[in-house]
Amino acid sequence: MKINLANIKKAIKHLNKNECVAIPTETVYGLSGNAYSNKACEKIFRLKKRPKDNPLIVHYYNNIELRKDCSFDNRFLDLYKKFCPGPITFVLNLHKNSKISKIATNKRNSLAIRFPKHPVTRALLKKLKFPLAAPSANLSSKVSAVRSIDVKEDFGNKIKYILEGGKSKIGLESTIIDLRKEPKILRVGGLEISNIEKVLNQKVKIKNNPLKITGPGQYKLHYSPGIPLKMNVKKAKDNEAYILFKRIKKAKPNYYFLSKKGSLKEAAKNLYTTLRKIKKSKFKSIVVGKIPNKGLGITINDRLLRASKF
Ligand code: AMP
Ligand code: MG
Repeated sequence: MKINLANIKKAIKHLNKNECVAIPTETVYGLSGNAYSNKACEKIFRLKKRPKDNPLIVHYYNNIELRKDCSFDNRFLDLYKKFCPGPITFVLNLHKNSKISKIATNKRNSLAIRFPKHPVTRALLKKLKFPLAAPSANLSSKVSAVRSIDVKEDFGNKIKYILEGGKSKIGLESTIIDLRKEPKILRVGGLEISNIEKVLNQKVKIKNNPLKITGPGQYKLHYSPGIPLKMNVKKAKDNEAYILFKRIKKAKPNYYFLSKKGSLKEAAKNLYTTLRKIKKSKFKSIVVGKIPNKGLGITINDRLLRASKF
């Protein structure tokens, strides 16, 4: 992707004034603001209608910048060397004298941080004098945005500027790993856990593992298309939108395919655009066929589970 310096300059101008700017990342678009500014972070929460107790992920250019705010160990460095920039978020201990806004962390002494890979956002981060607090650029509890037009759809003119970066390559949020004590996955995401386990040379526990769900209500509604959604459905009615993992020849008008030949990577990239497309269609409910529960399929199933009503 070609980097348009004029666009980066515009983004910097707004961010320096503590305004919010939507930024492209390889996972999903982010709604960003100066992570050192209470004013900018408050705006992010207000625009997204995000509960104040849900802290923001802070985005850095590299780990030299990060040293000012967090402490980290060799496990972090091993993962950093292998996967960063990329779709992994680390929860680390925050320095007491860090300038990170208390609004962003909701006064916690930990911080979730990430190094996004998208070249446009990397060019932006390199030029800024502060890291960017950036949750996903969608209304709280709704489907994430993977294109600038998705961001526009959710926020209209309420956001000062959207930095164009094309469609997000991965299309699913980052994997979050807590490295403060024993490594623990807080959210499955765009980086497969088996890859993390290889680097750490150990099994890593998953908090809220969707495979271990024991009853309804354990999951807060999230990533929601705004209409009922049911998973693992073998046969759909004609008045339900039917999402299938792989294209089939005998398609009906209510069928939506996530991939042509059964690629989990392609399915991940198309998941949120498909949910958004259905929401704008005449269908009032969604059913989803079985999606392989391995690799990125684990993350796709996690998001669908959270999008379904409990
Ligand atoms: P979002 O930015 O909307 O994709 O979501 C960010 C996720 O990171 C949320 O689920 C937060 O709860 C989580 N998170 C952010 N900061 C922390 C932190 N300090 N400790 C644990 N989880 C965090
Ligand atoms: Mg989000």
